Amino acid sequence: MSYAVISDVHSNLDALKAVLRDIHTKGVKKIFFLGDAVGYGPDPGECIDLLRGNCLNAVAGNHDWAVTDYISIEYFNENAKKAIVWTKAHMTAEGLEYLKSMPLTASSKEEDAFFVHASPETPDAWNYLFTLNDLEINFRCFEEKICFVGHSHAPFIAERFPSREIELHKESAKIGSAEKYLVNAGSVGQPRDGDPRACYTLIDNDRIGLIRVEYDVSSTQEKMRGAGLPVQLIERLSKGT
Ligand code: ZN
Repeated sequence: MSYAVISDVHSNLDALKAVLRDIHTKGVKKIFFLGDAVGYGPDPGECIDLLRGNCLNAVAGNHDWAVTDYISIEYFNENAKKAIVWTKAHMTAEGLEYLKSMPLTASSKEEDAFFVHASPETPDAWNYLFTLNDLEINFRCFEEKICFVGHSHAPFIAERFPSREIELHKESAKIGSAEKYLVNAGSVGQPRDGDPRACYTLIDNDRIGLIRVEYDVSSTQEKMRGAGLPVQLIERLSKGT
């Protein structure tokens, strides 16, 4: 059994194409998407088209819901707000329908996996999972073997053993003696862990891996400049912050 999980594309077409190419090269057919198709980047429509064509199921992120007006943009910082306003102005009716159709959570029996953008505890509160305490609480909030989240753009693999002990991994982990797994799939389009390469998660039989893929950052930045998107959003892509 192999499948890929991608998250936080944020309208970054160059990064999305590079990640999909890497997934297809590995012969992986099943792709799940954890939300934030749009916001920040310059190519919302093209990204939505590719996600629709390549992903089995998709759950909504907070930026997706802001573009559809399901939540207010007041909750976002100034740069994110500007990008959401820009995205709304460049959204097709079809693209908007896709964003509106995304549920908050999904689960797959075959993979024994649960999918949510922010947290399984309260999916629509858009909380971040940063501390060990956050993980302890959220490990109790799903029944499946693995829960995948995105949202913070900082990938990790956490495993909880029957003793309730939690172990964290930065690159990969073997699916074995642990009871449950909570995985942050990282961000395709705007990594924030100091590594500017696009990130996605690959499950290959009994291994969970956080995969990094180079893409043409300067091409995306050039398009963002042309679109008049905020300079801080452009610069952070080179640093992965
Ligand atoms: Zn995001």
